[in-house]
Amino acid sequence: MTADDELDDEALLRYSRQIVLREVGGTGQLRLRDAAVAVVGAGGLGSPAALYLAAAGVGRLTIVDDDRVSLDNLQRQVLHDTASVGEPKADSAARTLAALNPTIRVDTVERRLGPGNATGILAGHDVVIDGSDNFSTKFAVNDACVAQGICAVIGGVVRFDGQVVVVPPGAPCYRCLFGDVPPDGLVPGCRAAGVLGAVAGMVGTLQASETLRHLLGAGDAQVGRVLVLDALRPRLRSVPFARDPRCSACAAAPVRGVR
Ligand SMILES: [Zn+2]
Repeated sequence: MTADDELDDEALLRYSRQIVLREVGGTGQLRLRDAAVAVVGAGGLGSPAALYLAAAGVGRLTIVDDDRVSLDNLQRQVLHDTASVGEPKADSAARTLAALNPTIRVDTVERRLGPGNATGILAGHDVVIDGSDNFSTKFAVNDACVAQGICAVIGGVVRFDGQVVVVPPGAPCYRCLFGDVPPDGLVPGCRAAGVLGAVAGMVGTLQASETLRHLLGAGDAQVGRVLVLDALRPRLRSVPFARDPRCSACAAAPVRGVR
């Protein structure tokens, strides 16, 4: 038995390459162990995000997905393999993550997250990663996180273009940036427009890295900034955006300081 404030020998070895980082150390590793992160969508973004969080030792992961694995998912959704076609994605994801790191806890929620259930599903998490494929879910994640003081890390990818919006408590939010759910068909999705799996992997990995940075308090906090990836040139930019004084999510949020 080890005390709650100690890492056992296996953990010290498993995480040794990140524990040597000044930004992590034993204290940071314990912080990751005690953290809870929800991943909404076990797809092209959620797959790499969840894999890296599990590998890094985030102690509790919740995978939220109501879909089943299909053959055309496998080009980018690396949590799943050919044998898992037809299986619920949440189950397939949990099995893969448990094989990677059996020392963490993985919970599954096989429901479609939307405005009606987001608050209940996401309560109790420190960070929520959105890797969903629709705006209704992204706005629901944003609004529930802003209301509850949870950091939201919302990603999007299509063709060779990606973006990540990090919304720590008290910061300008996804709704400040994009307003409201766009009408169906206005913004092309990956089904029609296409996406390279590796580019989705870059965006999901960026979401994992931003989540770990937030949990560790490492580097510059992303307040009112959107990371924009152009994978064809290639180029990554950090673009500032302001709070929208008419934003309904921010108006309803309790007043909090930005870390
Ligand atoms: Zn807002």
